[in-house]
Amino acid sequence: MKVKCIDCEGDIEIPNDVTMGEIVTCPDCGLDFEVSKVDADGVSLEKAESMGEDWGE
Ligand SMILES: [Zn+2]
Repeated sequence: MKVKCIDCEGDIEIPNDVTMGEIVTCPDCGLDFEVSKVDADGVSLEKAESMGEDWGE
């Protein structure tokens, strides 16, 4: 399925087995979005918080 980017309205490809919390990237503007809701109508996206600290693991 596809969802419109809330920033640039580009089409973001969403895997059919997407789960909440998954991160998808807009191919047009490169922003990362977190899947905030998945239901029969489709999915909702929220801008992903930048995780900031890169402490490594
Ligand atoms: Zn975009």
